[in-house]
Amino acid sequence: MKRLLLITSLLVLGVVSTGAQQTRPAAPAAAPAPARAAAPITYRVTFPEPEHHWMQVEVTFSGLGTRPLQARMSRSSPGRYAVHEFAKNIFSVEAFNSKGARLSTTRPTPYQWSVAGHDGSVRLVYKIFGDRGDGTYFAVDNTHARLNIPASFMWAVGLETRSVRITFVPPAGSNWKVGTQLFPTSDPFTYTAPNLQYFMDSPTELSDFGLRTFTVKNPDGKTYEIRVAAHHDGSDANLDALAKDVERVVLEQGAVFGEFPAFDTGNYVFLLDYTPHSDGDGMEHRNSTFTSSRLTISNEQQRKQALGTISHEFFHAWNVERIRPADLEPFNFTDANVSCCLWMAEGFTQYYGNLLLIRAGFTPQAQGGIGFGGSINAVVTGSGRQVRSAVEMSQHAPYTDAAASIDKTDFGRSFISYYTYGAAIALALDLSLREMSDGAITLDDYMRLLWTTYGKPASATPGFVARPYTLRDLRNRLADLTKNKVFADEFFDQYVEGRDAANYERLMLQAGFVVRPRAPEAGWIGNVQVSPTEGGLIINQPQGNSINPIAFGTPAYEAGLEYGDIITTIDGQPATVEAFGAMSRKKPGETATLVLRRRSGHTTTTTITLKPNPALTVIDVETAGATMTAGQKAFREAWMGSKVK
Ligand SMILES: [Zn+2]
Repeated sequence: MKRLLLITSLLVLGVVSTGAQQTRPAAPAAAPAPARAAAPITYRVTFPEPEHHWMQVEVTFSGLGTRPLQARMSRSSPGRYAVHEFAKNIFSVEAFNSKGARLSTTRPTPYQWSVAGHDGSVRLVYKIFGDRGDGTYFAVDNTHARLNIPASFMWAVGLETRSVRITFVPPAGSNWKVGTQLFPTSDPFTYTAPNLQYFMDSPTELSDFGLRTFTVKNPDGKTYEIRVAAHHDGSDANLDALAKDVERVVLEQGAVFGEFPAFDTGNYVFLLDYTPHSDGDGMEHRNSTFTSSRLTISNEQQRKQALGTISHEFFHAWNVERIRPADLEPFNFTDANVSCCLWMAEGFTQYYGNLLLIRAGFTPQAQGGIGFGGSINAVVTGSGRQVRSAVEMSQHAPYTDAAASIDKTDFGRSFISYYTYGAAIALALDLSLREMSDGAITLDDYMRLLWTTYGKPASATPGFVARPYTLRDLRNRLADLTKNKVFADEFFDQYVEGRDAANYERLMLQAGFVVRPRAPEAGWIGNVQVSPTEGGLIINQPQGNSINPIAFGTPAYEAGLEYGDIITTIDGQPATVEAFGAMSRKKPGETATLVLRRRSGHTTTTTITLKPNPALTVIDVETAGATMTAGQKAFREAWMGSKVK
């Protein structure tokens, strides 16, 4: 294929300085003026009894005119796709007018407090409980307050374009500082946001965290400060080491896109919580990430583990925060948000999160390539692909992304995570582009085209994306990049909107990785586990609502086996663990006759025909007994080698 213009003109992305520990921003960027001049919404946040895990919020809405105030809690949070009903943790709501006279509140919905009969101003005072310190919820204890904004703060219907001014009052003697992407003021505890969207996107950590900074420079000469704010139980030296590693990852990320985003406040902050009480999570935001884990940075191996989430979340500063699907823009805080394109927003980020750790030298190349086997297997063998495409998996996120319900679901067989699915699509696309162009076009070029077309054009209003993309746009830009509409259409028809799996065996061999069946000689019946029970063996014994349905298309499914059924005989003998083991050792094509007792008590006889196990393994070509060719070596280095100059 012919070479195209977009290819890797490697731009200089240098570190120009590394700051010492500091607790205050060097040169705060002023917040832009709000869209229309109106009284800002002001919040005052106090923590009278942090040991009891609640905080008090006073919020004043003024300039209301005569309209009743409709104060709401969000039901969802950016980066989360299920409804979380943050109103459930609120108690002791009181309302006052500008003179301090008490007003009555009503509850027209579970997530709204309405106040009529005010004098144009309402001060709401409420308390809220929270003890889950992750990227989604609110948590407070004696060591910190971790505020995901939609989980913490009421806002008012109709005042979404108003600016916000928020003051945090830490507990006396706490040494807490404020870590946030909110816009700073001259008071280190007061911050602003230009509108509701930006405010909601700005998680805030209050603690005695350690801070390290470094600066990155864009080709246009602009510099941005990258901050590593970590609440942790390690030493200063541990944090120094972590920050050094973060810097390597950050530079490798910048090299993919050729530049860093124009961070709204002039900086990006990693808000990291590594404490024994953290809940594992990583959440992306425009100019920050809210990441937490129970790991300790005093352990080198665990410190390196932390880089996986850090790499993933920082890639989101481009992919989803700015290269953003139109169906997530603007984010709707009153409902679940459904998107066509989480296979791109999360899956491609998952792929790059791992690939960039290889390029930065944290994961050896051979190990990294073998590591892609997980997503290859999930997609090639996952029975969810028989009923849903990657687009449909994305649209299912409101039910699978930490969603809560008490009924049974069959997601174990009908759903493949759009992270895994999307990562496998990204891998297939990267290797296909390299294959078709003889290395001239790569997935980096595609991401760069999406960046310059959809991500980079700035919105006049911080918190918004000027030009979000549609599913059709993604297909069309792939056609533009490759100058090959047939390739782009086939790729999307087959692997994104269709339910085919790419030929990973051929694609991975280019880089010297052999993809082959894990146990080609062994027979296989599917995802069947049995445990002894009265009268035989129970299949995939349900534990309450936790079920493991028999996967579509497996021999067991085709023979009519399902979780909860009891196998009473195998080939005419009483069903025992030993008899089941003997059946499992049959060869592909051989059969067994089973008698099943359904949960109704009804019995049925069925014949199961074993198939070859479809599970794949990825191994280095040298481990497979061959010698890596010069072409494979060069391919692997071009794919996995560092791009930082
Ligand atoms: Zn993500």
